[in-house]
Parts: sequence; C-alpha cells; structure tokens
Amino acid sequence: MASLRARSRVRGRRQYRTGDLLDALQRRIPAEAYCLIGVTQADLYPGPSWNFVFGEARFFERVGVYSFARYDPAFYDEPRAADTATTILRRGCKLMAHEIGHMFAIDHCIHNHCVMNGSNSLEETDRSPPHPCPLVPAQAARDRRLRRRGA
Ligand SMILES: [Zn+2]
Ligand SMILES: [Zn+2]
Repeated sequence: MASLRARSRVRGRRQYRTGDLLDALQRRIPAEAYCLIGVTQADLYPGPSWNFVFGEARFFERVGVYSFARYDPAFYDEPRAADTATTILRRGCKLMAHEIGHMFAIDHCIHNHCVMNGSNSLEETDRSPPHPCPLVPAQAARDRRLRRRGA
C-alpha cells in the first residue's frame, strides 16, 4: 500500500490515516459482500486537524476501518490488569456490533440501554451492553422499508 499515509503522534507511535485505508478497502470489497470492515491495533487519524479517531466508515461505499489501539491501557503507558485482554475483546465486540449496525442503516438508539447508544468515551462504551435493545430490529426493518421507497 504505497499510498498509505502515516504520522508519528502519541509518544512516537505510528498513526495511520483512515481515508487511505478506506480507499484500499473500497478497491477490495467483493461485489457480493454487504460490507468490508478493517480492524487494526494501530492508531488512526482522519485528517491533519484531528488527534485520533476510533474508526471511520463510508456507509454507501460499504467500508469501514476501526482501531482497538486505545482500548488497551498500555497505549497510555498504564499497566495492564489480569482481565485486560477480556476488556479489549469486549470493547471491540461492542464497537463492531455498533458500527455494523450503522452499516445496516441503524441510527443511534436513545430509547433503551442498547449497543446502538451513542458513545463519547470509553466509560460510556463500557457501560453499554453488547446487544441491541428490542427496538433495534423494528428500527432496522423500518429503515429498510424507507430505503426501498427511496426516502
Ligand atoms: Zn454510532
Ligand atoms: Zn436500542
């Protein structure tokens, strides 16, 4: 990937630009795939004016890229606990469920404790459950009907 831009940001760690990764995924997505998601332990940034981003998607192009780097306390030079691997996996599974929900045109849920709740911090991510609330399938069905009508 010759066109993959990177920079050194936090304590010399390499950081990769999401747009270049999304371009690369877009060139590789099989026609029959619903979406193609890239997951990395490297840190990501979307553009020069941003410090970092947990991930980015192009919903209509059906590609997304996400980083688990900042889910690991070692990223912040903090000690790992005995259950750190479980914590990283739990956070990653929630992120993937949430973002793939967006790929299926599901918006943020404001009605219940739900994996589709918006999150602005790791604390909020840790508080959210790993599953959707009962309203999510109904919302997804409604959104698919609206899409078919071209709304
Ligand atoms: Zn979201
Ligand atoms: Zn919900």
